[in-house]
Amino acid sequence: MKLPIKYIGEPVLREKAQPIESITDEIIQLAKDMIETMHSKNAVGLAAPQVGQSLRMFVLTVLKNDGDKRVSTEEDRVYINPKILEVSHEIVGMNEGCLSIPGLYIDDVLRPKTITVSSLNLEGKEIVETISGWHARVVLHENDHLNGVLFIDRLQPRQKKGFEEEIKKIKRKYEKKS
Ligand code: ZN
Repeated sequence: MKLPIKYIGEPVLREKAQPIESITDEIIQLAKDMIETMHSKNAVGLAAPQVGQSLRMFVLTVLKNDGDKRVSTEEDRVYINPKILEVSHEIVGMNEGCLSIPGLYIDDVLRPKTITVSSLNLEGKEIVETISGWHARVVLHENDHLNGVLFIDRLQPRQKKGFEEEIKKIKRKYEKKS
């Protein structure tokens, strides 16, 4: 089932989300619905607060390469109670957008290049992984959502200034649509 998206201005996007204590059928269903919602919007990641659930879970899709460099398949992943264990000193800039801030895409958003993250999957198994590039970027962006942080909070002051008006406009436009 596709879920309605919460837009900037909704208080749930600014809350610190609660840990998931047990992986119930409801949590499994929520994860499935979030994956469906993410794909329906052509997004690469979606956090539970973005669908109004203040829980520490997000989903994302990564390109998986099965040893054959010519063929990559999409793999959907669920991160429950994620913890960022380490971040690299090396910082990279990439383009970011967010389903909760429709139409805003900003180049050169700075984040650590490589991270180590632990999380539970839907089977309750702990996974610790060191990841780089786009995958690390999405994990950091979605993990921020669990702490009430939006990517516009990560902008450098000069970037933020340039987009202030646009952000205000989007906020006004979507205020009543959540
Ligand atoms: Zn987002």
